[in-house]
Amino acid sequence: MAKELYNLGEMPPLGVVPPKMHAWLIRAGRFGTPMEAFQKEVVDVPPIADDEVLVYVMAAGINYNNVWAGLGIPVNVIGARNKGGEPEDFHIGGSDASGIVYKVGKDVTNVKVGDEVVMHCGQYSRNCAWVKSGGDPMYSPTFRIWGYETNWGSFAQFTKVQGQQCMPKPKHMTWEGAAAYTLVAATAWRMLHGWDTHAVKKGDVVLVWGGAGGLGSMALQIVKAAGATPIAMVSGEDKFDYCMKLGAKGCINRNEFDHWGMLPHWKDNVGYAKWMKGVRAFGAKIWEVLGEKRAPNIVFEHPGETTIPTSIFVCDTGGMVVVCAGTTGYNATVDLRYLWMRQKRLQGSHFANTEQSNQMNALALRGLLDPCLSRAFTYDEIPVAHQLMYENKHPHGNMAVLVGATGFGLGASGKPPVTIPHPTLPQDDVHTTPHPYPMSEPLPSVAEAEAITITDDGTRVKDLMHHGIISCTPDDTLGIVAKIMVNKEVHAVVVMDASGRAIGVVSQTDMVLARQGRTSEEARGLLAKDIMTPGCATCDASMLLSEAVSLMTGRRMHRLVVTENNQPAGVISMTDVVRKIIGE
Ligand code: NAP
Repeated sequence: MAKELYNLGEMPPLGVVPPKMHAWLIRAGRFGTPMEAFQKEVVDVPPIADDEVLVYVMAAGINYNNVWAGLGIPVNVIGARNKGGEPEDFHIGGSDASGIVYKVGKDVTNVKVGDEVVMHCGQYSRNCAWVKSGGDPMYSPTFRIWGYETNWGSFAQFTKVQGQQCMPKPKHMTWEGAAAYTLVAATAWRMLHGWDTHAVKKGDVVLVWGGAGGLGSMALQIVKAAGATPIAMVSGEDKFDYCMKLGAKGCINRNEFDHWGMLPHWKDNVGYAKWMKGVRAFGAKIWEVLGEKRAPNIVFEHPGETTIPTSIFVCDTGGMVVVCAGTTGYNATVDLRYLWMRQKRLQGSHFANTEQSNQMNALALRGLLDPCLSRAFTYDEIPVAHQLMYENKHPHGNMAVLVGATGFGLGASGKPPVTIPHPTLPQDDVHTTPHPYPMSEPLPSVAEAEAITITDDGTRVKDLMHHGIISCTPDDTLGIVAKIMVNKEVHAVVVMDASGRAIGVVSQTDMVLARQGRTSEEARGLLAKDIMTPGCATCDASMLLSEAVSLMTGRRMHRLVVTENNQPAGVISMTDVVRKIIGE
């Protein structure tokens, strides 16, 4: 007969499920840093549905999503589930695991009690009309990440998963190694194999950002296995050896270049030319490490804001930049001329479906995918591992924790089918880019976005605006416009046509950009109509100041023409908002 509760590491007889289990729980009352949010508790082992499986967890993988779960931002995952009808007032996280099947629902056909498994983290309702009609479950409104958006993840003695999530554990891997790779490797698999005509194929060149990181280390191996050629991007030469052992044909140290970040404005001749020089030198470096003048057919992206302009530029004509995150920021800039003229594809990608996860796992079973485990922890250290992530002090690569396994290095029951290297990262490899929140998931649904409340003190544009419009004609020279600006102490002048219509604005930025790459004489010879920003961004005097600020920042502008009764009446500028901050 089953005991009420088994000690950690004391394995119940196969198939015997006790009523209670040890688990690390997050509760809303202690949302905060991982060290506060995670607490050990004893809870009931959950019942399973007909399509579900109860797995005795041997080891669990660590991912950033449970740092968010513990913080309770951007989403209170417990509250969200309670709203959806799930009663539990706690969250058990963990979206990667290795373990042994202890119980199966009556409709589960792919695993049986006693099977050693790893689990992918994609859950969805098998009754969803989209899924039933053969649609990709990744697009189903019921799709959830197990152990983050769902409860009963792997930081517990037993985890509740859907049968379709279970995949055979590679026999040659330890429990902690097997728990470390699925989330990142399946994500990388979909990015590289999931986009039909752009799927990686033999002979392709693939540029992999963060080649020594969790995703990148998987991507290098997947690209190599496809018979294609990976080039690894890293932040130091000390990681070259690691990436070469994983299959990179060559490596590039991103710190040799300094053209990263958002694109300069296309009107900024000097800035754009400098950027172009930087990105061309980078392209030449790709040729150098490749040993031939070829552009990457695929660019494997996740840093986002700082690298996307470069990725789009260096990607081959007809190639694909595939992106699953924006670690450095979400406002990626694209020079659309390169996108459309050279017919490149910028493709978003998120996790993977059941079929793709299994295709990835087949590679692991064949011994062709090293899990790239960078650090393993004990069960008691689950909050510590997350705290390291929260503080950005964790090692690159993939981390795991022991749960049921009684020691490190256990669980491997067979020889690897082939011998592949198990490279280790340099000891002092540290993160230089903080992980912003939220990363890739979850985006609030439309309903949640409606419910978001913001504070606004009710100030309106008319409370701060300057009355009166300072204008010039379209044919005024820059010299005249500059004088108006200086004499009237304004940062922009509205361009009015002969019939008194505002047709554009010349701002100081427009003036400065006009001077870029031209002589003073050339610049002075230009007319207001040549350099103005056409059209006139306006707001009504009664508009809330906060909405006017969003309008300005959204359009990268520093001022708006204010209208009253649809007639231009004045100007509101960023400077006015700054003055309000200091109470002037
Ligand atoms: P990781 O192990 O921390 O690796 C990230 C890599 O990015 C690092 O190895 C680093 O390499 C590189 N990097 C850091 N700052 C950079 C910068 N400014 N420019 C270029 N490269 C930079 O993280 P990961 O597990 O690979 O995950 C990467 C991102 O994907 C994260 O944002 C994660 O949340 C997201 N993700 C998304 C999904 C999904 O399904 N959508 C799934 C898994 C992960 P160097 O410093 O050596 O260049």
